[in-house]
Amino acid sequence: MRDEGGSSRSSRRAAPRLERRPRAAREAARALRRERGRLAIVPTMGFLHEGHLGLIDRARAEADAVAISIFVNPTQFGPGEDYEAYPRDLDRDLELAGGRGVDLVFAPGPEDMYPREPSIRVEPGPPGNRLCGLERPGHFSGVLTVVLKLFHILEPDVAVFGRKDFQQSVLVRRMAEELNLPIEVVAAPIVRAPDGLALSSRNTYLSEEERERALSLSRALRRVRERFAEGEREAGTLADLARQAMREAGVEPAYVEIVEPEELERVDRAAPETVCAVAARVGSTRLIDNTTLGGPSSLDDTGDTRGP
Ligand code: AMP
Repeated sequence: MRDEGGSSRSSRRAAPRLERRPRAAREAARALRRERGRLAIVPTMGFLHEGHLGLIDRARAEADAVAISIFVNPTQFGPGEDYEAYPRDLDRDLELAGGRGVDLVFAPGPEDMYPREPSIRVEPGPPGNRLCGLERPGHFSGVLTVVLKLFHILEPDVAVFGRKDFQQSVLVRRMAEELNLPIEVVAAPIVRAPDGLALSSRNTYLSEEERERALSLSRALRRVRERFAEGEREAGTLADLARQAMREAGVEPAYVEIVEPEELERVDRAAPETVCAVAARVGSTRLIDNTTLGGPSSLDDTGDTRGP
């Protein structure tokens, strides 16, 4: 083990500063900007995995200081969804965040973020009603509202989101543009397990047998990319191929959509920037995945991708 500065625990970085209250977090974030320069944030719901850590690495590359938020946001969960069951482990998250050089962790409770019943919300408009928005009404309004609050509390220069939640990353970028927020929104690639499964905190719900079936989502996307590379441009044919790959594994898709990446409207003919997005329930766990049809993808090199 390398020893820097004579410390026997040198491979570990310092624990990040933890703040729970919005006002204290804003002061800490302002101090970071004053003392260091550019501040990047990574909003999360915690239970960190390599997908989150990839965003943190990207944030460090984009800025001089990094803050993350850990908040399981109740307003983006619908009735009957997994708000209560969502996995939480703040001590482990702090350790992982510290190991990746995070400077500040903002981990408020619901009472800190919503001291009264919220009455003002950000509405994403039509692109928020497509894909996941159809099955989860109000979800993206909850997401955009909490992201805007986090932006105002932490006042970052850059915010890093994962393409894993493709629709979310598009909606946040649109919000920043349409509301003239002085924040650069970066979308970072999907981190996958070596077998192709997109990492997600919700993967912890999967039994061994369910995890096996869950691989059908990334397999479906890989087949769609392959068929696109062979020249297929008919969106209906590509979507059918994905549905078939999922059904072969006994997984009934909630949706398979072939959309353009701005309004998230369906296309008839696929192009390299077209996105195939899929969602399915495996057991009781709702999983999503997506890929751009052309260009590089973490689906091409899953053997090299760090696993959980
Ligand atoms: P979550 O904690 O699930 O709300 O995710 C927080 C952020 O991490 C979001 O921007 C997600 O898109 C991103 N993220 C989650 N899983 C992955 C992954 N496997 N690869 C890349 N980004 C991810």
